[in-house]
Amino acid sequence: MAENKRDYYEVLGVKKDASAEEIKKAYRKSAMKYHPDRNPGDKEAEEKFKELGEAYEVLSDNDKRSKYDQFGFAGVDPNFGGGGAGFDGFGGFGGFGGFGDIFSEVFGGGSSRRSQNAPRRGEDIGVRLEITFEEAAFGADKELTYYRIENCGKCNGSGSDDGVIETCSQCRGTGQVRVTQNMMGMAFQSTSTCPSCSGRGKIVKNPCSQCRGKGKVRKSRTVRAKVPAGINHGQSFRLSGEGCVGSNGGPSGDVLVEVAIRRHPIFERQGMEVLCEVPITFTQAALGGKIMVPTLDGKVDFDIPEGTQTGKEFILPGKGIPQVGNPKRRGNHRFFVVVETPTKLSKEQKELLKKLDKSWEEKSNPKGKKFFDMLKDLFD
Ligand SMILES: [Zn+2]
Ligand SMILES: [Zn+2]
Repeated sequence: MAENKRDYYEVLGVKKDASAEEIKKAYRKSAMKYHPDRNPGDKEAEEKFKELGEAYEVLSDNDKRSKYDQFGFAGVDPNFGGGGAGFDGFGGFGGFGGFGDIFSEVFGGGSSRRSQNAPRRGEDIGVRLEITFEEAAFGADKELTYYRIENCGKCNGSGSDDGVIETCSQCRGTGQVRVTQNMMGMAFQSTSTCPSCSGRGKIVKNPCSQCRGKGKVRKSRTVRAKVPAGINHGQSFRLSGEGCVGSNGGPSGDVLVEVAIRRHPIFERQGMEVLCEVPITFTQAALGGKIMVPTLDGKVDFDIPEGTQTGKEFILPGKGIPQVGNPKRRGNHRFFVVVETPTKLSKEQKELLKKLDKSWEEKSNPKGKKFFDMLKDLFD
């Protein structure tokens, strides 16, 4: 299903860095062409129209758009997710609403919007960050690049080219107007968004050419992020105030960084424990002695006892993953030895092994003795 989906930017025929206005324009143009009223009974046009609506729903919403940019369809489709890398950290991304809303918004349906004068917090942004096993264990200072909504640099967020901003005369700057409606012979008073300033309370005489009067632009941004030591795959941390800029003096949103840990060639992780396998020769296994064990802190010499069996587990306390927020406390390092059967032996080596084989006594291989005794009882 998802694999057949076309890229939303491609559907609307716009570039990745298209402005909100360009996206709206592109949607309006194509939606007119494929609108069901114009193409009655045309299944293909209907599909196209639906596809357009879905693409526009995502790309016209700053939050959804940045999630789509970061995660693709998985970031915006509620049916996605589950399994895989797991995006659980962010909770629901919000489903698709009816496309009717968008259509009426673009084409100017009369929807009552809440006052745009009030301070509003900027949107949060989800960013996925890939790090190594060691970076997750000990923390790291990483560069992070993402898109966010910022105040336009040209007009300082005012939306005006020349600084001339007038208070809206119709609503006297409140953004709201009183309307009197007659219903069944009675007059009802209600407030609604001022039509001449769209609720902003101010009117910009000459809109800024950079942001087309919006006061905001979508910009790529790079910050340094401190990855906390001990963080695990799928967990996230927050960069306060690094998200989209707020409106009317409202605070900026946050960036939620979800961590993805790359596979390590030797180590595996289980909570705060590090696991690994260490191959040993069969003579080492039989005679015991020093072996070299890789850990997060480097190579460690370890004495294994004589007669060590394959699969035997050993523990190096405190050599595992640090605890988040308390990095002095660390989990254990657990390793399993695997006895490697020797291959490509020389003639002399084989002779030695044959001699050795003849020398076995019952106590040398107690497991084998027990096993064959059992077979005797069962089958003889
Ligand atoms: Zn501007
Ligand atoms: Zn007004």
